[in-house]
Amino acid sequence: MFDLEIFRPKEYRDTIRNIDFDALKQKGIEGIILDLDDTLLPRRDYTLNPLIYNFIEGIKDRGFKLCILSNNFSPERVEKFARELNLPCVTLAFKPLSGGYNRAIRILGLPPRRIAAIGDQLFMDIWGGNRAGVYTILVKPIGCEIKWYRKLMRAAEQWVLARLEL
Ligand SMILES: [Mg+2]
Repeated sequence: MFDLEIFRPKEYRDTIRNIDFDALKQKGIEGIILDLDDTLLPRRDYTLNPLIYNFIEGIKDRGFKLCILSNNFSPERVEKFARELNLPCVTLAFKPLSGGYNRAIRILGLPPRRIAAIGDQLFMDIWGGNRAGVYTILVKPIGCEIKWYRKLMRAAEQWVLARLEL
């Protein structure tokens, strides 16, 4: 039978703000691969909230290296936020495929066991991160889905999360 364990995140948090970054540090994590849309900000937002800027600066101040990894079909959007946050980024990542993860891992310059990946999509961020051998953290998506196929994807995620008892 198909093993759902491949989708299991190491941690599951309500929001990115609820992640205990000091605990990550104690686990030996030094780098963060960060999803953008619905993890850091709503996918329909086009301006950077100062609260998000300060939040990211706080993570940097703790000594973490960060890299944005996004599937968004607009590289311009991803690059704009990366520039404003002074972060490197990998655009058109095609998560869960490994190519984007490998590029982000190279940018961070750390072994996968020293990297955490944070994202809101089980079948993209978490599956891809688990395959790349990084420490995966699932967060609940910011905002609700409008498009039918994304609603379907969220329903499928909920089905898996229930079976993983998360
Ligand atoms: Mg996302």
